[in-house]
Amino acid sequence: MSTSTLLHGGAVIDGTGSPPQLNSSVLIEGEKIIAVGAEADALAQSHKDVQKIDVSGLTVMPGLIDAHTHVTLGEPASNDELFHRREPATAALIAAHNVKKILQAGVTSILDVDGIFNIGPALRDAINAGITEGPSMKSGTFALMTAVGGTAGRMIPDHGTAGYAEVVHNRDEMVRVVRRQIKDGADIIKIHVTGVIPARSGEIQVWTRDELKTVCDTAHDLGVPVTAHCRGDQATLDAVLAGVDIIWHASFLGERALEAIIDKKTAVGPVFTFLANLAEYGAKVGATASVQSTFAGELEHTGARLRQAYDAGVPLLCGSESGFSITPYGNWHAREMEVFVQHMGLTPLQAISCATYTNAHALQQFGQVGIIAAGAQADILVLDGHPEKDVAVLGNKTSFRHLFKKGRAITLAEVPERSLLRGERVEPWSAQLLKWDLIHQK
Ligand SMILES: [Zn+2]
Repeated sequence: MSTSTLLHGGAVIDGTGSPPQLNSSVLIEGEKIIAVGAEADALAQSHKDVQKIDVSGLTVMPGLIDAHTHVTLGEPASNDELFHRREPATAALIAAHNVKKILQAGVTSILDVDGIFNIGPALRDAINAGITEGPSMKSGTFALMTAVGGTAGRMIPDHGTAGYAEVVHNRDEMVRVVRRQIKDGADIIKIHVTGVIPARSGEIQVWTRDELKTVCDTAHDLGVPVTAHCRGDQATLDAVLAGVDIIWHASFLGERALEAIIDKKTAVGPVFTFLANLAEYGAKVGATASVQSTFAGELEHTGARLRQAYDAGVPLLCGSESGFSITPYGNWHAREMEVFVQHMGLTPLQAISCATYTNAHALQQFGQVGIIAAGAQADILVLDGHPEKDVAVLGNKTSFRHLFKKGRAITLAEVPERSLLRGERVEPWSAQLLKWDLIHQK
């Protein structure tokens, strides 16, 4: 059996932002890339049993990394569904099905930021053990919240866990829960620094800087990074100063938070995809029109500042928010790159670099994945198209020709559609009130 593979004669995009190397080659041995370019061809000559694949006319690039997924949520259309229509065994089986779709979308690694029933770490281990097929995974577990809540308003309980939330009351509990989550297999800790309460518009800050620091110090002592959902300037500033390693969204950040991000080079993932999909395509699936202005406002306020951060050398992470009903698995993993190009003025190669080379930061594997270079993990996507001209081609799975994960060729095939389970979706009796007038008005 052949143990080495030579991808010969393709246009190689290495992920660092450099232009494609035309008519180049990549030599894979075991789980690693061992040579690139002329050296790959020369080494292949001297090796026995090299499987040679002609990739002339095709693009060879790192497999995509999605730095912000929720693989266990099961594409809910509402928080009601997510919080009240899930149970552990079924959710785990469905998640094992859904990760196949993510891999088939050319995504070879993900950071699953938070999820339900602590399924994430088990799924990660199942993928590593070959029990189910999927991208390499780093996994969070429940997102930490104070009793004020997170993005699900009053569905967040006063204590314990519900949906993706785990409520912590005081510093002792913060320390205890962080330690327990790490024992339970979490690769990262996630905090919802801002949340929604019914009587107020927008998201309000629900943690103090001191509380955030308690979580960060506890996790960091055990070598585990902390990521934080933040909307608003003060929340972002407090999270950065408390020592959070990755800021998600950073919506409406102001000068002070921007300065702190640049000063500490804290990685930021805006995760615009959910809002972009809602605003631009939501009408096709019956979403409400009111969200369009939300997206425009967020992009206007946040996009320009994050561009400044990017220009100052802050790692800009690329994540899809898969999977909710607006961001189903296997569909929109390249969409954030399109938003970076269209709305933040990045070049396609810069956007690709965010979704590969830079995203490796999110996995704590910088330089080891997300790059085509000797010594890197052989996570490689080969496609018929020119993503350096138009990143949208990376969303089109029919352009993919070969996919390697840790040096192993993945068979490219559409994951079969499944039917819904009874009770999986919220089933309203009606879309509106059946008033007497409605029937009797002439
Ligand atoms: Zn998220």
